[in-house]
Amino acid sequence: MKLITKKTNRYGRLHILEFNPQKENLLFLSVGYKHRERLSKIKHQWALDRGYELAASFNGAYFSMNKATSDTLGLDYRDHGFIHGYTSKDDTTMEAVWDGQTLTIGDYIDTDVVGSPTIHWAQSLSYSLVLDGKKDIRKRDGNYWGKHPRTLLGQRKDGTIVVVVTDGRPAGLTGSQSADLMLELGCYNAINCDGGGSSEMTFKGKIVNRLSGGYERKIAQAFQVYSKPSPKTPSKKCVCLDIGHGSDTWEKTGGKGIRLKDGSSWEEHDFNSKVGISLKKKLEKAGFEVYLSQQPNSTEIPLYKRVDDINGRNIDLVISLHANAGEVGAKGYEVWKWHGDTTKGGVFAAKWIKNAKEFVPDLINRGVKNCRPGERTNFYIVRKTTMPCILIEHFFFTDNAERKKCDTTKYVDKFTEISLKTACEYFGVPYTSQLSPTPVVETERDKAIKWAKTKGISDGKNLSNNITKEELIISLYKITNH
Ligand SMILES: [Zn+2]
Repeated sequence: MKLITKKTNRYGRLHILEFNPQKENLLFLSVGYKHRERLSKIKHQWALDRGYELAASFNGAYFSMNKATSDTLGLDYRDHGFIHGYTSKDDTTMEAVWDGQTLTIGDYIDTDVVGSPTIHWAQSLSYSLVLDGKKDIRKRDGNYWGKHPRTLLGQRKDGTIVVVVTDGRPAGLTGSQSADLMLELGCYNAINCDGGGSSEMTFKGKIVNRLSGGYERKIAQAFQVYSKPSPKTPSKKCVCLDIGHGSDTWEKTGGKGIRLKDGSSWEEHDFNSKVGISLKKKLEKAGFEVYLSQQPNSTEIPLYKRVDDINGRNIDLVISLHANAGEVGAKGYEVWKWHGDTTKGGVFAAKWIKNAKEFVPDLINRGVKNCRPGERTNFYIVRKTTMPCILIEHFFFTDNAERKKCDTTKYVDKFTEISLKTACEYFGVPYTSQLSPTPVVETERDKAIKWAKTKGISDGKNLSNNITKEELIISLYKITNH
């Protein structure tokens, strides 16, 4: 669909609307109310209710200027779920008939069209301009001879509808010039609509022509083009994973890590990186977009830089990934949110804790914690980010047993599953488990029962029942190859 505005020596300034309803999947409708209305106010409720969007409008039929009602001159038929207009027998005008594909111009009365299963609308307009590719004026009326602002409607052989609206007086075209113009524009059929002060076109919500009366005249009927809204692909939610600290933090500060008995070091960033890599994979598989504000296993980006970066992006949620340090005996997981964030970050934090209870029931739940200004836990990332942000302390690396247990593939998998499930619940995305299946270890008991089944001693059911002497004898008999 396109609108071409051009100045011509012969016809003055023209506004030419071209669209192909079939190719472009557009609705071409005839619209009117019981009362007359300005073109810019006319809407087709049926189309709007179905999600269509108004693309263009232009005036159509003649009507009585003396009446407030929308009685158009002649045939005015709208069917197919569209608003019904009026019908009357008429023999003073030519009609345009639309079947969703072809604009037929001819001389019709109501009995020709009413009740037809194929006709979308039929509208008396005025005289014909082009019929079957030739200039052919039929039913000309008084306005044929003068130069007037015009609204002209036609169709090319390829199905393209061509609408011309001219600028207001003194510019204007005679009926004969109108026919020439529509031929020049390649129309195979064309008809003259109401003109003068009624001539008007809107395109994407704006009036495109200079109105000859200087204002919008209330009209009885309009043609409208509606476009189907393109199906909106729900935009992916973007989760930012903030991998705590850097690969150089421990070396530089002696913090965010621990010196082990054998002299080696354990660094928090290494664990946080494992969680970041695993969680990124899982979130992306679930359909999320993931942004890393701090790359895994790389040197630390200062917090203020990370936060500036995050705030400049279209991020829906920030998860800062950490492991905790504390007093002797301190164990378990906790989730931090901004104290004032009682809705979004608060909701995520609470859901995370709920899911943690499911996936790591063996760890201590320390619950949701609030970051407050002026306290040690006034975490910069939580405080300064402009979107919901939570900080997860997965376990205490200062506790030897907990560190050995949690810094493992198995627990990283569990921790990231908690965050995945929580993100799905939080954003309303269907959750599918990505937890690695626990390898099945066959016990001595399992092996024995399997063996008993193959020997025909037991069916594997009611295994805790007592056995009779008789059953024992039979069993012994069976396994001693008799
Ligand atoms: Zn940390």
